[in-house]
Formats: sequence, C-alpha cells, structure tokens
Amino acid sequence: MKRKPIVGIPRALSFYTFYPLWRAFLENLGAKVILSSATNRDILEDGISETVNDACIPIKVFHGHVIDLAERADYLFVPRMISADGVSTYCPKFLGLPDMIRFVGRPLPPIIDARYNLQGFPGGQFRFFRTVAGQLGIKNPFKVYAAGLAALARHRRYMGLLQKGVDPLQASGAVLENKPYRARTSMASTNPGEELKLTVALLGYPYAVFDPYINAGIYDRLNKMGIDVITFEMIPERELKRMSRTIPQSFFWYYSNQVCWAGLYLLENKEIVDGIIHVTAFGCGPDAMVDKLLELEAKQAKVPFISLSIDEHTGEGGVQTRLEAFTDMLRFRKTKQEAAVNR
Ligand code: SF4
Repeated sequence: MKRKPIVGIPRALSFYTFYPLWRAFLENLGAKVILSSATNRDILEDGISETVNDACIPIKVFHGHVIDLAERADYLFVPRMISADGVSTYCPKFLGLPDMIRFVGRPLPPIIDARYNLQGFPGGQFRFFRTVAGQLGIKNPFKVYAAGLAALARHRRYMGLLQKGVDPLQASGAVLENKPYRARTSMASTNPGEELKLTVALLGYPYAVFDPYINAGIYDRLNKMGIDVITFEMIPERELKRMSRTIPQSFFWYYSNQVCWAGLYLLENKEIVDGIIHVTAFGCGPDAMVDKLLELEAKQAKVPFISLSIDEHTGEGGVQTRLEAFTDMLRFRKTKQEAAVNR
C-alpha cells in the first residue's frame, strides 16, 4: 500500500489561527500531518542561527520549527499568507516567508508554498486549496472541494471556541480530536464587580501571546495570579468591524488591525477590563505604531496600560516582576475606586 505523504506544519505564526483548517484539509486529502515540537531552547537557537539579527523573535522561532521538522517530513507546509479578510495584508515578513525558508542553510524537504489571499475575486479559499492539493499531486477537483468544505467547517468551530476564551491548543484538540476543553475566561463570565478580582486584556499577535516559551509564560502567570485574561480573539467580530469605522485609517496589516480594534473596543467599554498589557515583539515594525496608538488611547481613556517587549533574551524574572508591579497597581487602584464609591 502506498505510504501517505507526511506534511510538517511548523508550530508558529499562522499556526495559532489556522492549524485546524490546514490539518483537516491535508488529512482529508489523504496526507499524514505532523507538528513541530513545542518551542524550546534548541528550536530558538536553530532559528537564531538561520536568521538575520534584526528579525523579530516570531520569525526566528518559525525558522527553528522548520528545522525541527526537516528530517521528519516529506513536505513542509509554509503558505504565503497574504490576506485573510480580503482587505488588509499580513506583515511583509509573512509575505516573504517561503522565500526566507528556502534560504535556510540546511537540507529541507519540498515546501508547499501556496498563496492564501482572499483579496480580489471570490473563491480565494478554494484557489488556495487547489494549489496546495496540486503541489501534493492531487488533481481531482471534487476531492479537493469536499476536503476544503469539511476543513472550513472545522475552522469555523475553532474560531468559535477561541471567541469563547478557549486557548488555541485546547480548541484544536476539541475540533480535531473531540478532546474536552475548558474556557480560561469568557467575556460573559468576567465580573468586574467582584471584589478585587482583576480582568486584564492581553493584547498582541497570537503567536506572541500563546507561545509560552517566547513570552516567558505571561498567560499562565496571569492565570496563576487569579487574574482573568481577555485576548483579541474573544471580542466579537462585529464589534471589531464597528471599531474599524471609528478611526480615520486602519493599518495595512491584518493582525495589527485586530489588536488595535480590540484595544479600542476595550477602551470604549472600560468596565470589561482593569488594565491592558500589550505583548510586542522587539524589532516589529507594525507594532511600533500599534503600541504607540494603544498607549496614547489608553492614557486618554485613563485605563492602565503597559507594553511588554519580547525577544530572545526575555527572562522569566523580568516578566514576573513587571506583571506583579502592574497588577499590584491595578489592585491598589481598584481598592481606591471601590472605597470612593462606597463612601
Ligand atoms: S507583525 Fe511584527 S512580530 Fe509579526 S512577523 Fe511581522 S515583524 Fe514579526
């Protein structure tokens, strides 16, 4: 019997938004999908050795994940992410990612490099699916269409779980393998009125917020401190769209817009969070603007805000100290506000 082709998906960048879609589609076509290991020291060091110094840490880590898969996979899945909403594009580093990966100085299996672009005429998803299938040698349009439709259904369920506050790993397990899941926080269950219970927005690109190795486990640290966490994935899409109409000009980049609109929504609905933490990658061009905009808007709205910049030198001690200082200040502020109301 013919062996199934093994397709390796790097656990970085678009993985956090699209893993169930990619995996379900590839498996429906008859491929076996493997994932790179969770980010670790070897992956980071391999990534650093294959990239230029001033690349952001998510790009460095992506290279490390590719190397982790190189000897285990028949193909590497590195789509060229251009536009997921038909309007904005991904940052230039995403656009050039397959080209960067081809210059990795080690032997690599063939790269599945299809353009994911929902701009222009309709049917972008299926154009993408056809190209991926073609690169695996599958031409039957009915098989490709059926595989794509089933994968899109999984993707919709996954996005629904993210919106309910389930983290990407648990949500993927639930959608792909029917594993049990539990929302860490939900917009409906946060209770700002509860005495000294804090709710914090953790805003940033999903690959910076949900990879605990590169951000020194910020999400888990906040949970361990008993703090509810809101991420941009939890803000309803219609509200993000509404916020996009409140500013004269949105950014050019997809994730930057999601973070910016989510921040503006939370600043408009100040009762939802006690403070905002922006996780930003050192050396990220788009974030230089997003961070400043959020900082200025938060100052105007009088909502506490800090930005935590991550790079390969980010240490657990430094992150913990800053989180404790910030959340102590939030508790002090909340105590004072409640005392003023009860006076
Ligand atoms: S948006 Fe920023 S952090 Fe993300 S890949 Fe581009 S430069 Fe790196």
